[in-house]
Amino acid sequence: MTGTAPAPFTADDYTARMERAARAAADAGLAGLLVTPGPDLVWLTGYAPTAETERLTLLVLAPGQDPVLVVPTLEAPDAARAPAAPALTLRDWTDGKDPYAVTAALLDAHGRYGISDNAWAMHLLGLQSALPDTSYACLTQALPMLRAVKDAAELELLSAAGAAADAAFEEIRGVRFSGRREADVAADLAALLRRFGHSQVDFTIVASGPNGANPHHEIGDRVIEQGDMVVLDFGGLKEGYGSDTSRTVHVGEPTVEERRVHDIVREAQEAGFRAVRPGAACQDVDRAARAVIADAGYGEYFIHRTGHGIGVTTHEPPYMIEGEEQPLVPGMCFSVEPGIYLPGRFGVRIEDIVTVTEDGGRRLNDTTHEMVIVE
Ligand code: ZN
Ligand code: ZN
Ligand code: ZN
Repeated sequence: MTGTAPAPFTADDYTARMERAARAAADAGLAGLLVTPGPDLVWLTGYAPTAETERLTLLVLAPGQDPVLVVPTLEAPDAARAPAAPALTLRDWTDGKDPYAVTAALLDAHGRYGISDNAWAMHLLGLQSALPDTSYACLTQALPMLRAVKDAAELELLSAAGAAADAAFEEIRGVRFSGRREADVAADLAALLRRFGHSQVDFTIVASGPNGANPHHEIGDRVIEQGDMVVLDFGGLKEGYGSDTSRTVHVGEPTVEERRVHDIVREAQEAGFRAVRPGAACQDVDRAARAVIADAGYGEYFIHRTGHGIGVTTHEPPYMIEGEEQPLVPGMCFSVEPGIYLPGRFGVRIEDIVTVTEDGGRRLNDTTHEMVIVE
């Protein structure tokens, strides 16, 4: 997450987020939250150290206490310019001092804390040895919905990121596919995402022919041929908020079976989208999309969950997956991306980002769901 442009929020916005997070921690029975550099720190403070190093940077949020940011002394001037700085007390530590002792003085020696999923083990072990009676939970397990409900400004940024990804698709459908390597088309996609305002490209999947049957295939040296289905799945961050969309195109005229599989995925995507409304469970979105594919006889070929949340990262809670009973709330944003993967042959995936509205869902991607024929 380092180096990403912070979103244009005010110190008041960040203060409100930190207060909300501290309250949520208390409601979850935690003494507080310990947040290291990464998406949660960006979301809570707008602060992303220019280089993530082994030196401890840690935000301590506890109900009823002012937020404290523990920072290395040499980075304190940068931290003091963070958007949330007016609401933060900086506690710096100098090389040679023990940062865990500095942090321990801020913590309840018997408290249970939520800590960033990506906190370095070194830091967690340092805290544990400084305060042996503390205990810890992964932040996304303790508070999975902390960042899930987006406010109006966040929705605007996510919409703009979606529109930029759509603009990239409108351009890429016009480039030549046949005779070029997947990696070449992927480079085009990355350049387009940047041209349309992305500061960070997270993935540009170009999975042609049999490679499309592997949802984890990114790109390779395979040369795209006439008759190939090509799964395109791309996204990244624009002004600090994510895009992620998939369309499956075909080089030249598709076969009857290819059209049929694409139609089934399109219907499944539509069914998943129509299941989106406040109060429905995340798993209902998965069930609705999956039922269409299962009813068409392809159930065993839909081998991943239907969707994931998106915000200051391109993959985060909530997950649209069987067993996730979390109710949908207006402002949540997530993907609806069913697919069918026929081993050794081809794959199809269609993905839109969707936000929950008061009475249903709204797509943040709106390029055509028809199968686009490319050259
Ligand atoms: Zn074909
Ligand atoms: Zn995707
Ligand atoms: Zn996705």
